[in-house]
Amino acid sequence: MDAIVKNFPGAGTQNGAANPRPTQAEAEEAVRILLRWAGDNPDREGLLDTPKRVAKSYRELFSGYELDANDVLGTTFEEVGGYDDIILVRDIPFYSHCEHHMVPITGKAHVAYLPAGRVLGLSKIARVVEIYGRRLQTQETMTAQIAQAIDSKLKPRGVAVMIDAEHMCMSMRGVQKQGSTTLTTSFSGTFKTEPAQQARFMSMVYNR
Ligand SMILES: [Zn+2]
Repeated sequence: MDAIVKNFPGAGTQNGAANPRPTQAEAEEAVRILLRWAGDNPDREGLLDTPKRVAKSYRELFSGYELDANDVLGTTFEEVGGYDDIILVRDIPFYSHCEHHMVPITGKAHVAYLPAGRVLGLSKIARVVEIYGRRLQTQETMTAQIAQAIDSKLKPRGVAVMIDAEHMCMSMRGVQKQGSTTLTTSFSGTFKTEPAQQARFMSMVYNR
């Protein structure tokens, strides 16, 4: 079991030494308990390997805990030959889980910034969205985290982030509002101080 845990760099350190990561066997046992809690029998044939699969899929679904956005953004930036206007990456799909019910959030992120002399590789923006998506989240926190990561590392003139997402905890349970989506935004720098830049960001996101 230890070998499995050791395959993940930083395993057990996310929550500090006082709260080390449980073993694979402990995680599987927890899934067995939830299967019984749901009303099923974890010993029936179709469910025998389910705890193992769930424990394994959690490593992927929550892999964002192993990763640091600062590392992904790196220290090298590209020169842009005088380009100084908005750079927008829109429709970045992501899958996350709400921290209140641990059910999926699915949506799209739109991330823009106004460069101050240097730019990020475009794929790095999508990677940052993925890192924060693959954790337990609220949409509000995730929106702010993406903006702050880019702002603090790149130090552009401004960052704008919009997330448009559906929360399965609303669609599948509770009030059951299928198809309703939640919009959140985070603006910094010029996007915060100049309404015209905010408006340009919005129109670039929505005008197709
Ligand atoms: Zn929820």
